[in-house]
Amino acid sequence: MTVKPFQAEARRLLDLMINSIYTHKEIFLRELISNASDAIDKIYYKALTDETITFNKDDYYIRIIPDRKQRTLTVLDTGIGMTKEELETNLGIIAQSGSLAFKQEHESRDGYDLIGQFGVGFYSAFMVADVVTVISRALGSEQAYKWESKGVEGYTIEPCEKEKVGTEVILKLKENTGDEHYDEFLSEYRLRELIKKYSDFIRYPIVMKVTKTRKKAGSDNEYETYEEDEVINSMVPIWRRNKNELTAADYENFYAEKRYGFDKPLTYIHISAEGAVSYKAILYIPERIPFDYYTREYEKGLELYVNGVLVMSKCPDLLPDCFSFVKGMVDSEDLSLNISREMLQHDRQLKVIAKNIKNKTKSELENMLRTDREKYEKFFRAFGRQLKYGIYAGFGQEREFLQDLLLFYSSTEKKLVALDEYVTRMPEEQKYIYYAAGSSVERIEKMPQTELVADKGYEILYFTEDIDEFAARMLGTYKEKEFKSVASGDLGLPESGDKEEEEKSHAALFKQMTEILKGKVSQVRASRRLKNYPVCLASEGDLTIEMEKVLSAMPNQPDIKAERILEINTNHPVFTALKQAFAGDTEKFKLYTNLLYNQALLIEGLPVEDPLALSEQICRIMV
Ligand code: ADP
Repeated sequence: MTVKPFQAEARRLLDLMINSIYTHKEIFLRELISNASDAIDKIYYKALTDETITFNKDDYYIRIIPDRKQRTLTVLDTGIGMTKEELETNLGIIAQSGSLAFKQEHESRDGYDLIGQFGVGFYSAFMVADVVTVISRALGSEQAYKWESKGVEGYTIEPCEKEKVGTEVILKLKENTGDEHYDEFLSEYRLRELIKKYSDFIRYPIVMKVTKTRKKAGSDNEYETYEEDEVINSMVPIWRRNKNELTAADYENFYAEKRYGFDKPLTYIHISAEGAVSYKAILYIPERIPFDYYTREYEKGLELYVNGVLVMSKCPDLLPDCFSFVKGMVDSEDLSLNISREMLQHDRQLKVIAKNIKNKTKSELENMLRTDREKYEKFFRAFGRQLKYGIYAGFGQEREFLQDLLLFYSSTEKKLVALDEYVTRMPEEQKYIYYAAGSSVERIEKMPQTELVADKGYEILYFTEDIDEFAARMLGTYKEKEFKSVASGDLGLPESGDKEEEEKSHAALFKQMTEILKGKVSQVRASRRLKNYPVCLASEGDLTIEMEKVLSAMPNQPDIKAERILEINTNHPVFTALKQAFAGDTEKFKLYTNLLYNQALLIEGLPVEDPLALSEQICRIMV
């Protein structure tokens, strides 16, 4: 029989599994049981909508079969099974190829061991087995197939016999080594322990033959052993259990079992709502950003169960965009099983649930912000950007809802602060919430435009993400205080009258400069904000230079330009030189004007329009 090769990525993942030094190899069982449970879910759901299939509850189970003689462990299910094609595509290639890329990136970055915290699913079988055999018969098919693999070389597939629809995964356990005892996975006691630990809430019975002892018939002191099927798991889904009976570990296990994420959740919310609409929900806020989170491919949504039956694995209507990072599930008795995606969008009950989830998520985050700042900052570093998008999107309809969840780096506190904290600290005479936009905290620290505001002792919020300034624009005000860029024309600071005098006395000089820089800046003027730097750019009107940078980096944007103003520090020695040139040397004055303008561009992090001309100008002064 020919051995078919695995797809490149499957091979790499397999390699990782086979050579895994991961200490929690035991999670392979959880992964296989989850797959089995999903397969039964699928058949159960089909039966509900397809009258030709009858679902008799007793026919659906998962069986664990340890065989010491053969050194095999079998996980059998009576689920939907796989066709030949499904065996090949599901087990021969990795569906979410992105996950592997993500995994490798993270492993190399911080050595974080992701195996086991990451939904590697079926492949984890290779952590404990040399040979994995999958025998499966798909629903509606007479023919069964046997898929088999000894590891990275590939797999074989051939027709075989199987009486019932479903799947059997047979693991030929690895030989024991000095510190690995793979035959622990043949021990009844150990298997029971693992099922209880990881799969207790699986909705279908997980059956295992267990050895028991009883008194021999007709004897008082003689005992005999016998074997009996026993259901090992409690089968009550976690969301139906009483919160008080559950531990953080239970919720974390459920998160892993459901493969909501490969991280540990930062926090969870368990809702048990009775009333107009009854439902139960378990929601998680993940710790890490899913690898595809900020891409178009990311699909938000919660699992939707109707009376215990999974009807949709990602119901987007349950989550607002601003909280699209939330993972978890909702189970409601009040929805119809046959509900279609289109109908869901209009379902009144679902809307009530969605609204509730939105509010609960917000209160959970607010609570975290108040009580566990470190954790909240972790959350915010991962998903803060999404909250800011949430403010900007939809014409700002969520701005009030979200504004108190924002954090920005503060110039005075040197850490992330909330808007409320900023406003509370504002001195009485301060009119605005000042911010400075730039690519990083380090860069903003050096921005000449911040000098005057910082000098006043006012706190400045650093906007380091593209979206920040747009979000602030959408907010407009916070607690009646307007946001103001430190680079804006009018800073709203008390003026010392002599500046105006000064402006007048240099009017001719600035006019001449404006003339020279025609088309580049709309005005040249004496700066009120500069102290140590010679020049800077400021902007007038709605669009700031930072916003212009963001917009021009987007594809298909019309050429939008901020209205630029060149500000000169009249206390700087260069200004004296400029004045002298203005008085007697037109060529020099032109040269200085251009040099100052180019410096301002460089300081602002904008491209110099004509680098060759600039180089030539610099040479001219040096020679
Ligand atoms: P995941 O479950 O995360 O999609 P796996 O590698 O565990 O990844 O499984 C890949 C796919 O193989 C599953 O999505 C499912 O379609 C199929 N599969 C795995 N185990 C079974 C099973 N016991 N019965 C039916 N299908 C299965």
